[in-house]
Amino acid sequence: MIDPTKEARRRDDVDPLAPFRQEFCFPQSARGDVVYLTGNSLGLMPARVRETVSAELEAWARLGVEGHFAAPGASFAAPTTPGSLRGPAEPWFSYHALVAERGAALVGARASEVVAMGSLTANLHLLLVSFYRPTKERYKIIIEGGAFPSDRFLVQSQARFHGFDPADAVVEVMPRAGEDALRSEDIEALLDREKDSCALMLLSGINYYTGQLFDIHRLTRSARARGITVGWDLAHAVGNVPLALHDDDVDFAAWCTYKYLNSGPGAVAMSFVHQRHARSFDLPRFCGWWSAEPQTRFARSQQAPLQLQEGAEGWQISNAPILSMAALHASLDVFARAGMARLREKSLALTGFLEQLVDDVDGVRIITPRDPNARGAQLSLRVPADRLDAQKLQRLLHEQGVCVDFRPPDVIRAAPAPLYCRFADVVAFVDVLRACVSAKGAS
Ligand SMILES: *Cc1c(COP(=O)(O)O)cnc(C)c1O
Repeated sequence: MIDPTKEARRRDDVDPLAPFRQEFCFPQSARGDVVYLTGNSLGLMPARVRETVSAELEAWARLGVEGHFAAPGASFAAPTTPGSLRGPAEPWFSYHALVAERGAALVGARASEVVAMGSLTANLHLLLVSFYRPTKERYKIIIEGGAFPSDRFLVQSQARFHGFDPADAVVEVMPRAGEDALRSEDIEALLDREKDSCALMLLSGINYYTGQLFDIHRLTRSARARGITVGWDLAHAVGNVPLALHDDDVDFAAWCTYKYLNSGPGAVAMSFVHQRHARSFDLPRFCGWWSAEPQTRFARSQQAPLQLQEGAEGWQISNAPILSMAALHASLDVFARAGMARLREKSLALTGFLEQLVDDVDGVRIITPRDPNARGAQLSLRVPADRLDAQKLQRLLHEQGVCVDFRPPDVIRAAPAPLYCRFADVVAFVDVLRACVSAKGAS
């Protein structure tokens, strides 16, 4: 039998990513830093966000409209040409390109396949304008049963928009009786059954509730082989597990940046459009001045046709939310230094350790897949309703300085984000969990 406290200390001592913890701001409890296991919901603030956001505020204060092309250091009187300065602040005109490069690296994409813009659900709607092209015969959308509500509302409203009844057009893949996760072969069986009626499959990379990581490579190939367009909502996958969107041949994807990517509440999102659609200018899309080639954005003549930009940038509509991107910029810098491969390696160990300790607690059951390749950082714990009220348990944990979340009716989600969580945090959480459960204080 290992002593969890000693084992945690040993592992934290040799953790090459341990120094990154100091780059984050922790909420405080009476016991000091909160044990923060909700990075899957809202990531902690990288301290450097203050610097990158302040730099843009300063640019705005000093340069006004000239900040679009100049950065501080430049004076108002001598604006520079677009993209020529790489100072502590960046010209706003090309700011989105700066974050696209690093965002693309995180998801295994080319920079031209990724754009920072808008918000997740809105971006998916815009992508569906292009990639959900229902016909009378092929109009169905496959999603996972138990999808994030926003995604369900999204596809239902899209089906309705095209004149279909969502009850018929939206098909949910369900887990087998007595199981919590979905099986790839069951999804494929459904793809087979619906191959003549299905236009689109939209799954989340990691299900927000169960924490299941889908086999993106396999399922994308299976759907595309049947002529079905494939999109992924990567809200819980990005910054959590390594992704290879380009090589996996995904048609499109979108993700928010405020969960594992630590870019702040409501932060700007990102979209991915595969290279093979980069010049698909005939795809229908909703456009604005930022869909157009930069030098044609101000074209005034009725006759001047919209010259769409190539690649993902051609799906932009509006100019970029710079303050939000400044936070994302600081966050992506942390990821670039830590490296997704090293993060995943630590995450596997950290979540495996959590699994081992939780298995020892009587009265809670892990519903997240046991296979480490079928999950990210998060474990979802089902708390039997006859013994404990999960919501009350969550409140008790909070009172003890442990931040986890509750998802009705009976699930607690705990996600040790490897950038700033320690093995010692896992022990602290499970100690409090065990005490709460055995005291039956939550019943
Ligand atoms: C978090 C999350 C969202 C949130 O959507 P917003 O448009 O950012 O509010 C949507 N879908 C999934 C799967 C999520 O996990």
